[in-house]
Amino acid sequence: MIKTVLITGSTSGIGKAIATLFASKGCHVIFNGLENNGAEIAQTIADEYKIKHLFFPVNLLDRLATKAMIAKSIETFGSIDILINNAGIQFVSPVEDFPEEKWDDIININLSSAFILTKAVWHSMKQKQFGRIINIASAHGFTASPFKSAYIASKHAMIGFTKAIALEGAPLGITCNAICPGYVHTPIVENQIENQMKAHGISRDEVIKNVMLGKQPIKEFINIDVIAELAWFIAQDSSRTITGASFPIDGGWTAE
Ligand code: NAD
Repeated sequence: MIKTVLITGSTSGIGKAIATLFASKGCHVIFNGLENNGAEIAQTIADEYKIKHLFFPVNLLDRLATKAMIAKSIETFGSIDILINNAGIQFVSPVEDFPEEKWDDIININLSSAFILTKAVWHSMKQKQFGRIINIASAHGFTASPFKSAYIASKHAMIGFTKAIALEGAPLGITCNAICPGYVHTPIVENQIENQMKAHGISRDEVIKNVMLGKQPIKEFINIDVIAELAWFIAQDSSRTITGASFPIDGGWTAE
């Protein structure tokens, strides 16, 4: 049976790579993201793999619109079988200057939206006795770096949330897991490269090698397709006993 997957932040970066892989496997894909050309990106992927899709340019800070996105998706496809909480933002600042509104946005987008969406899909997954919830956390869900207090708080909390939902889902056929990447070369990272070059007064190569990949024993950006492949593996029917886990894909960073 064809599965339906909703991926937040799927018109860019990691979410787009996951959407593309799931589309290539024949899933119905529900796209979400704030990119101006989001509709076009979703349509191009859907056309390439001849799948059914929906696109919602819903801002996840808008809880009513977020819940309406779920309701419309379930009305269209009958269920959401796989929910991938991927959308996220970053802001880098010493804590004493950290803008409170940035803290609130990061917690709301990176963490609270996963709660709102999980709550909204729960009834449908419970009725079907099947669900896969995959949270894109981060290596920063296990470990910290300075100047990223809100992001690190949100990603650590995401791992705790993943465990709690796994326990609640266990009797219902619903699994919940997290994927925790190291640095992946996407727009969220590209923007940081520019900022770090300015902050440290060093070159692009030095930022990548010394600041970003400095803590990764394997000095490579994480391959985006590997993250998508792990999400696909976790989403399988046969992965029903994999739950409550948080999988690092971080070049050994958190092994230290
Ligand atoms: P990205 O900037 O390429 O994509 C982020 C997506 O989230 C975009 O589609 C954006 O429109 C969407 N988004 C942001 N705010 C939103 C909002 N308010 N409402 C709806 N959509 C919103 O970044 P990415 O690297 O692909 O990041 C995806 C996830 O992976 C994030 O949760 C990020 O924290 C996590 N992650 C990224 C890295 C990395 O190195 N790139 C490492 C670890 C974890």
